[in-house]
Amino acid sequence: MKANCWIGKQDVRVETVADPKLLNERDAIVRVTSTAICGSDLHLYDGFVPTMESGDVLGHEFMGEIIEVGRGVQNLQKGDRVVVPFPIACGSCFTCQRGLFSVCENSNPNAWMAEKLWGHSPAGLFGYSHLLGGFAGGQAEYVRVPFADVGPLKIPEHLTDDQVLFLSDIFPTGYMGAEMCNIQPGDTIAVWGCGPVGQFAMKSAFLLGAERVIGIDRFPERLRMARERVGAETINYEEANPLPELKEMTGGRGPDACIDAVGMEAHTPGFVGAYDRAKQALMLETDRPNALREAIMACRNGGTVSVIGVYGGFIDKFPMGSMMNRSITIRTGQCHVHRYLKPLLERIQNGEIDPSFVITHHMPLSQAPEGYAMFKDKQDECIKVVLKPH
Ligand SMILES: [Zn+2]
Ligand SMILES: [Zn+2]
Repeated sequence: MKANCWIGKQDVRVETVADPKLLNERDAIVRVTSTAICGSDLHLYDGFVPTMESGDVLGHEFMGEIIEVGRGVQNLQKGDRVVVPFPIACGSCFTCQRGLFSVCENSNPNAWMAEKLWGHSPAGLFGYSHLLGGFAGGQAEYVRVPFADVGPLKIPEHLTDDQVLFLSDIFPTGYMGAEMCNIQPGDTIAVWGCGPVGQFAMKSAFLLGAERVIGIDRFPERLRMARERVGAETINYEEANPLPELKEMTGGRGPDACIDAVGMEAHTPGFVGAYDRAKQALMLETDRPNALREAIMACRNGGTVSVIGVYGGFIDKFPMGSMMNRSITIRTGQCHVHRYLKPLLERIQNGEIDPSFVITHHMPLSQAPEGYAMFKDKQDECIKVVLKPH
C-alpha cells in the first residue's frame, strides 16, 4: 500500500510499504477514506520529537471503512464506517476505567522509553514516534487499529467525512481544552493559537457557555476565521502585546481562563524568542513555551490555564511565582478522545457545530509532502489539510 512516511527532518515521502495485518484478536484493519495533517505532526516534521525512525508511517487523524476484524471484536463488522481516536486505549485498565484513555496503561509496548523521559508512560498513539508505541499511522491507504472494540466510533451514513473526521483528535482536543476551564456564565476565555485546535477550543468555549472568547495569533487568515466562523474577538500579537491588551479588554482583571493551543514551537518575537531558539538548538531546553508563559501571566487571579498544545520535554523561564502567588490552576493532558466521541457526534448531528469549517485544502495522499510544506509555511492561507488516500 501507499503511506506517508517520515524520512528525516522536514522530509516526508509517500512510499510503498507492507499492507497492515491483524496481529491480535482485538485488532481491526481500516481502509482509510480521509486523513488529516495535524499541527502536532509538524513537531515530528521539524524533528522535535525523539525516537522517530526513517520509514515510520505518519498520521493520527483518520477515518474509514472496516475491512477486517479480529475474533475478539464483537461490536464492529466489515463495511462499518468509523472514526478512530488518536490515542490507543485498552478500555479496561485502571486509567481507562476512570475515563483517562490517553494515559492507558496497556497500549504502549515501548513504555520503558517514555518512563525514562517522563517517569511514567502515557498511552500509545498512532503515527507518533517509538516513544509512544511505534504504531503505524493513518496517512496511508490502510491501517491496523489495536483495541478496535474500544476506540472506533460508528458514523451514520448521512454525515460526510469532512463533518466527522475531526472527532479523531482536534475537535475533542479543543473541547477538552475548554472543558478544563470550568466555564461559568459570563466568563471570558483567551486562546493562544488560532490553528484548527484553537478554533475548536474557541468554538467549544462558546458551546460551554463563555460570554466572550479572545483568540491570539499572528496569521490574518486564522484571526479572520476566529472572528467570522467562531465569533471570537482577536489579538494579532505582532501588532499588539497580548498582556496589556487582554488587561485592557477585561477591565484590568484578565481572562477567567486561558488556553494554550500552541505548544512547544511557539513563535516569539524579540529577545525571548531568540533566547528560546538558542537554548532549544543547544538542547538546553526542549520546548519553546512562550504561549504558556503568556497564558499564565495574563490569567486573572484564581483563574485556570488549560494546556492542550503539545509539549515534549523541559521548559525554561516558567513563571511559577506568578502561578503560585496568584492561585492559578493548571490543567492539561492529551485528549481522552474516547469519552467525547458520542457527545460530540451528537452536537454535530444537532447542528450545533459543523467541524468542516476549518478545512482549507483537500489533496490526494500522494501529495502529502506538498501538504506538509504548505501547512508548515502557511502558504495559500493553509489552515487544515485533508488527505484522500483512495
Ligand atoms: Zn492531531
Ligand atoms: Zn487502558
